[in-house]
Amino acid sequence: MSRNLELFERAKAHIPGGVNSPVRAFGSVGGTPRFVSRANGAHFWDADGKQYIDYIGSWGPAIVGHAHPEVIEAVQQAAVGGLSFGAPTEAEIDMAEAICRLVPSVEQVRLVSSGTEATMSAIRLARGFTGRDKIIKFEGCYHGHSDSLLVKAGSGLLTFGNPSSAGVPADFTHHTLVLEYNNVEQLARTFAELGDAIACVILEPIAGNMNLIKPSAEFVKELRRLTDQYGTVLIYDEVMTGFRVALGGAQSLHGITPDLTTLGKVVGGGMPLAAFGGRADIMGKISPLGGVYQAGTLSGNPVAVAAGLKTLEIIQRPGFYEHLSAQTAKLAQGLADAAKAAGVTMCADSVGGMFGIYFSETIPTGYADVTKSDLERFKRFFHAMLDEGVYLAPSGYEAGFVSAAHDDAIIEQTLAAARRALGKVA
Ligand code: PLP
Repeated sequence: MSRNLELFERAKAHIPGGVNSPVRAFGSVGGTPRFVSRANGAHFWDADGKQYIDYIGSWGPAIVGHAHPEVIEAVQQAAVGGLSFGAPTEAEIDMAEAICRLVPSVEQVRLVSSGTEATMSAIRLARGFTGRDKIIKFEGCYHGHSDSLLVKAGSGLLTFGNPSSAGVPADFTHHTLVLEYNNVEQLARTFAELGDAIACVILEPIAGNMNLIKPSAEFVKELRRLTDQYGTVLIYDEVMTGFRVALGGAQSLHGITPDLTTLGKVVGGGMPLAAFGGRADIMGKISPLGGVYQAGTLSGNPVAVAAGLKTLEIIQRPGFYEHLSAQTAKLAQGLADAAKAAGVTMCADSVGGMFGIYFSETIPTGYADVTKSDLERFKRFFHAMLDEGVYLAPSGYEAGFVSAAHDDAIIEQTLAAARRALGKVA
């Protein structure tokens, strides 16, 4: 029996499904999850000692590569000074200043420990600031697992969300409107009918939780125009895209100034750290200044902040994003070319250090398109790549992530593996 399988069986005895976050269980692709024993640069090794080129990078955080020596040193140094204080530190100010400088729409920021906390708090704040209850989210966008955001895709205008998880009372999602990503007409109709009651719109400004889906320029522009017109708070959930698609996040690529931004993943450099921030007048409503409550025992944790600060330092070095974007584009183009050569219907796309592969004729523009892609073939491709030692996201609904450690040789090795794997799934 493989050691991965042995560990999976052991894990299942005391951890539900054997994992601490569902997608890790390989539920949609089948097979045995790989248990990671260690990681370095663009690679990790599983419990059987097999090496993989890693294209999830902890689902985004590992942008400088795993176990980057400078990040590890910063963590070690912080750790010897104490793990958590529950009182403020100077490093938290350094982090707040860095975020506000790199993401100029953020005038004030609060540190939390997960993306879920960041989006949940941003929404509470938007409701507290506007005195309104309703929120808009988009089908296929994931904003963490807080109750009001766990809403299945609604279809059509004014479909109030139904919970997509057992344990979430329908009352909790009653105020969540679910609209289609990139559907400008539906958005405009919704605002015309309910605009004055909508506290906020939250979106993944470049979606990565329904595979990689880019918004149209018109969608992005209309979102800002309508939210301005109705006094609705525009929340860019950049937990995934922040410092990933560009140094200034998706908002810098869109040329949009959101009212609030949520950050996670890269900002913590692999440690549990996230943030939400934005307009000072809105952030001023949070306790202890205002009446919107938010708190956290481990918020601004010194070890996490040290990892994050060092990561932010590295990504600001000259040429970092040029290199990252070029490597990611090379991978996406190479995969699309390989599919074409193999006669497999598959396309690929990328932005910054994020990419998508789609077993469909064209690049999807929304969730419904992704559901229509050939997810069975994706599954076979995933396993063929895994056999080749390439670890892709174990779901056709997830984007992939490249790190600065993915050099030319690694990309070429991946493409050679893909050519063989595509031959098997043709
Ligand atoms: N928002 C987005 C866009 C995400 O991709 C995620 C996680 O993948 C979250 C929020 C939730 O973050 P976390 O898993 O840290 O709670």
